[in-house]
Amino acid sequence: MTVSVALAGCTGSIGRQTVEVVAADPDRYRIDAVSVGSSVADAVQVVASTGARVLAVADEAARFAARDMLNDAGMVRVEVVDDLAPVCSEVDVVVNAVVGFAGLDITVATLAAGRRLALANKESLIAAGPVVQPLRATPGAELIPVDSEHSALHQCLRSGTPGAGEVERLILTASGGPFRGRTLDELSQVRRQDALAHPTWAMGPKITVDSSTLMNKGLEVIEAHELFAVPYDCIDVVVHPQSVVHSMVEFTDASTIAQLSMPDMRLPIAYALAWPQRGGTPFGRIDWATVGSLTFERPDRDTFRCLDLAIAAGRMGGDAPAVLSAANEVAVEAFLDGHLGWAAISDVVSRVLDAHDVAVPGTVGDVIDADRRGRIAATAVVAQMAA
Ligand code: NAD
Ligand code: MG
Repeated sequence: MTVSVALAGCTGSIGRQTVEVVAADPDRYRIDAVSVGSSVADAVQVVASTGARVLAVADEAARFAARDMLNDAGMVRVEVVDDLAPVCSEVDVVVNAVVGFAGLDITVATLAAGRRLALANKESLIAAGPVVQPLRATPGAELIPVDSEHSALHQCLRSGTPGAGEVERLILTASGGPFRGRTLDELSQVRRQDALAHPTWAMGPKITVDSSTLMNKGLEVIEAHELFAVPYDCIDVVVHPQSVVHSMVEFTDASTIAQLSMPDMRLPIAYALAWPQRGGTPFGRIDWATVGSLTFERPDRDTFRCLDLAIAAGRMGGDAPAVLSAANEVAVEAFLDGHLGWAAISDVVSRVLDAHDVAVPGTVGDVIDADRRGRIAATAVVAQMAA
């Protein structure tokens, strides 16, 4: 029997790679429903190539355009809807490849429906940890990470939850991004295209900027804490520029298990779809004769302040990660639009976090409210800085 997949965020970097993984194993998987923000021409192509029967379009004007395009292409049986969330209960696996806080409803709907969530959209888990955690106990619900580091940790542990008292620490690897080794002074004139030139991964613009500031790694520390229930004191970050070791688990007897593969997101996507089995793959095997040396170094926490800002928000707990993540989204967007310097991204996040009084969100509505407050505060700081 083929596994039925819904793919939220089908036109992005993870979305397209998910389509490739499914296309490589058509006897095992089929994509039944997809969603997109606004790039409907690309989404209609995905629908045509996958045979999906439902297309959800978040943007209203784009939704009308999608209907016209599908009619023109003779694909009249495809249902166009405004929201993929109600469809999550009708499939076996939901891949959440939406970028940013907009992915929250899919994370919540999938777990609440007792389905497997293959989660690339880390922002939803980070922002809504206190609300998402109880949903993981829904019968049938499973949360398998797609983020490469967390897939690596999941593989080292071979489960979502480490055995009691066995794990000494989790070690997340970071590529270091395009600015590794630079000083703050050298980084004062960074342009958009510099931040978007990642040395080892080709990803969407938001996560690429997050990788350049190390905010991505800070968010991933929170993500690891939420996924594996390991305390912050026991999660370390090490810079590994080759991106071949995707993360490691050190056990109490000082034995360390690492997961290695080429930097190719199709591998963790395929792992999340196939778990608890392993699939075959036409992608990304290591050629040991050419892989060369694998190096490790300490992150520069003074230059890349976002790493510790995120960990601080994680330790504050409650709605602090939601506020941090929202402030970061606003700051990154302002940077990409040319309204904010690269070095000021951490200033915006830090000022918003400093002014925040932590509350514990009990409902999705509370999380949405925290996100909104983070965005309003960050927008005000960006405006002050631009003035
Ligand atoms: P991207 O910008 O390339 O794609 C984002 C997708 O989300 C697009 O399909 C867009 O249409 C869709 N989208 C945006 N708003 C939406 C909305 N309101 N409703 C439905 N869809 C919406 O982003 P990406 O690089 O593929 O990243 C997606 C997620 O995966 C992010 O959370 C990122 O942190 C995570 N991730 C990405 C990578 C990677 O290699 N790209 C690696 C690890 C984790
Ligand atoms: Mg990652």
